Amino acid sequence: MCNASTFDRRIDALALARDCALLGARARTIHLLTGLADRELKQYSHLIQPAQGRAPDTRDWYHTATLHERIESSILMANFQYLRGLGFGAAQSLVESYRFYRSCLGGRCRISFDRAFDLAAHTAGMWLAHCPSFQVLPCPACRAQGLQTLGAVPAGSRCPFCKLAASAQPRPRARRRRGVR
Ligand SMILES: [Zn+2]
Repeated sequence: MCNASTFDRRIDALALARDCALLGARARTIHLLTGLADRELKQYSHLIQPAQGRAPDTRDWYHTATLHERIESSILMANFQYLRGLGFGAAQSLVESYRFYRSCLGGRCRISFDRAFDLAAHTAGMWLAHCPSFQVLPCPACRAQGLQTLGAVPAGSRCPFCKLAASAQPRPRARRRRGVR
């Protein structure tokens, strides 16, 4: 038999598990976020249906990610850190930042919930990560909050937002062809 606070914690964990599953989380991610064991998730399989497949590992992925993937990762992690800074718990901050991200992009999201979880773990140094590997810092050129390797000095040359802005500018030859000075 459990007391009231244990009961409340279990209800909170189940509600969090359901939210994560609705955002596309796999069972391993839900287990790491909520502490609920596999058999408990199976017990509530009519309410909580995790996605299938292998969870991603992000530390190497980020360095080979596309520009748009790095921008979306940066926005997600900046919001995650912002909510944590306001005093929300880490799991709640992740769920809310991912929910906001998905509401903005709909079906065009490039970052899965499992990937966002992995990024958050390696940015905060928690859950599956013993220490942080990433940091979110403002770019000195455009001031956007960018995700980068921990310890790297922010520079516009590495900032995905600056790169996107530069790619939107016509190249010099195209500018000359069009008579643009
Ligand atoms: Zn920048």
